[in-house]
Amino acid sequence: MQTSFTSEFTQTADGQRVNKILRKCVHCGFCNATCPTYQLTGDELDGPRGRIYLIKNFFEQDSEENKQQSTNEVRLKHLDRCLTCLACETTCPSGVKYGELVDIGRKHINASIQRPVASKIKRNLILSAFSNSTRVAGLLAIARIFKPFLPAALAAKIPAKIKLPASSDSEISTSSSRKMLTIKGCVQNAAAPQINLATKRVLNNSDIQLDEVNSACCGALAFHLTETDQALRTICINIDDWYQKLNNGYESIIINSSGCSSFVKQYGTIMQDDNSYAEKAKFISKHCIDLSELASELKPKASPDTNKTIAFHSPCTLQHGQNINGKIEEKLIQAGYKLVVVQDSHLCCGSAGTYSLLESELSSQLLENKVSNLEKHQPDMIVTANIGCLMHIQSGTKIPVKHWIELLA
Ligand code: SF4
Ligand code: SF4
Repeated sequence: MQTSFTSEFTQTADGQRVNKILRKCVHCGFCNATCPTYQLTGDELDGPRGRIYLIKNFFEQDSEENKQQSTNEVRLKHLDRCLTCLACETTCPSGVKYGELVDIGRKHINASIQRPVASKIKRNLILSAFSNSTRVAGLLAIARIFKPFLPAALAAKIPAKIKLPASSDSEISTSSSRKMLTIKGCVQNAAAPQINLATKRVLNNSDIQLDEVNSACCGALAFHLTETDQALRTICINIDDWYQKLNNGYESIIINSSGCSSFVKQYGTIMQDDNSYAEKAKFISKHCIDLSELASELKPKASPDTNKTIAFHSPCTLQHGQNINGKIEEKLIQAGYKLVVVQDSHLCCGSAGTYSLLESELSSQLLENKVSNLEKHQPDMIVTANIGCLMHIQSGTKIPVKHWIELLA
């Protein structure tokens, strides 16, 4: 694809990066075939190729032309509707880095306009509520009180309270031969603490001691809401802490929620122009592993209920974001579970971080399609690898939805 950026952008690191990415695109449109939003709306601008053109167009105009609020509102509307599921990246035969492109495009287009006040307030509230585990726990406690009075669709999104056994911490050994770090997760720690406990148990049984770092948030929430400064602050705090620990006896940072592991693996790219953090960020990304990458080494702690059938939902952040395929499925089959075939397994469930809250209509349609495919063979359980997908899918089905590590604990 030919580009002709204004000098304003050709001088900047972001401009040069966008230019390099765009030049790889041959506008063939193959990516549209696997784009969930394009499939739903049929609008070229709700597909990756259309979004690529919207970003190109922005970078080819100077700041005076880019001040047109209405044009930028249209651009941002279609970029906001993108799930950042990266199915298009998996499909693209030319290796276009759409994820990096859309992150940069969103940042610049968002900065060039004023969002409506209501939209700003909503985004700030979401960020403030969900980027802190204590606040998530408080909100859940209040939501559970009012659950009986809420509309069914909203009530279904509120998970039941999980009480961990009193002995849960004391059973974890601290004398394993391998040591790894982990993060608790802002939402996961409050909404489904049994997942972190199951992870510790199974790793412990596999001779790996897992220690939680202080920070709960990886910064993904702020980054994807284009609150870039806040995201960068969180990333730098994490890098300083984890870098020091990884140089003092911990072999990796292992993350059991694929949305977070996928984002930490991007630290190196996000910080590449920061002289103080670029090298350390690359080091952190290199030492970050998703729990599934360790699946073949894990020894189940409990005997699996081998009569159960499972429909596995591979999160986009696992299959497209990290290109990890088959490892969890193989482990579950090896453990004795029976996996059913899931149609359109490459498509997003509609959770996508805060997408289900900000683009609820498209998200609900995606959820409906996903649940229908997951329920088709009437499995006993639905299993996934990311807390966002888990809670979102559970809100649309009566079949229990679990994290895969719970089945081995
Ligand atoms: S498939 Fe790749 S090369 Fe083709 S239009 Fe999409 S992004 Fe461009
Ligand atoms: S990231 Fe997903 S929703 Fe966005 S353009 Fe690509 S395939 Fe479509």
